[in-house]
This record gives sequence, C-alpha cells and structure tokens, in this order.
Amino acid sequence: MYRVTIDRDACDGVFACLTRDSRFVEDDDGLATFDTDEGSVEQTDETVVGTFDDERVADAEDAAAACPLDAITVEAVEGKR
Ligand code: SF4
Repeated sequence: MYRVTIDRDACDGVFACLTRDSRFVEDDDGLATFDTDEGSVEQTDETVVGTFDDERVADAEDAAAACPLDAITVEAVEGKR
C-alpha cells in the first residue's frame, strides 16, 4: 500500500501530474485532486490524501517528480495486502 498526498497550498494547478497518472484530476477550485472511484481519498482544505493498493506507485512517483511545485508526496504505508 502507498499513500499519495497533494499539498493544496503548494499546488498551483499546473496539471503536469494529470498527464503522468490518470488518477489525478482537476477539481472545481482548479487544483489537483484524485478520481475518487479509486482507492480511498480524504480531502481537507490543505491536503488530499489518497491511499492505494495497486501496482501503479510508479505512475504516482512520475507525477510527483513532474510537479514543478513539489506538491505531491508518495510514501509507502505498512499494512495488510
Ligand atoms: S503538477 Fe503539482 S502543481 Fe500542478 S496540478 Fe499537479 S499537484 Fe498541482
């Protein structure tokens, strides 16, 4: 399992992430969020945290690397599979 966090204070709607990982989508505020049909997503004013258990961690890491504002963090989560 892994967790992907979008820092919405840092995010400036560049949307480089969207082309790397289709789970990233634009929300009504013009900032990045996740397609909520996948994984579990928790959103606050400051962050969107998605927890996923699939083989697409490399896509998320590509999105994080592409973000010019370093608004995306990918980290492993201990847990049952
Ligand atoms: S690339 Fe970064 S700044 Fe741009 S929309 Fe995605 S998270 Fe936000």
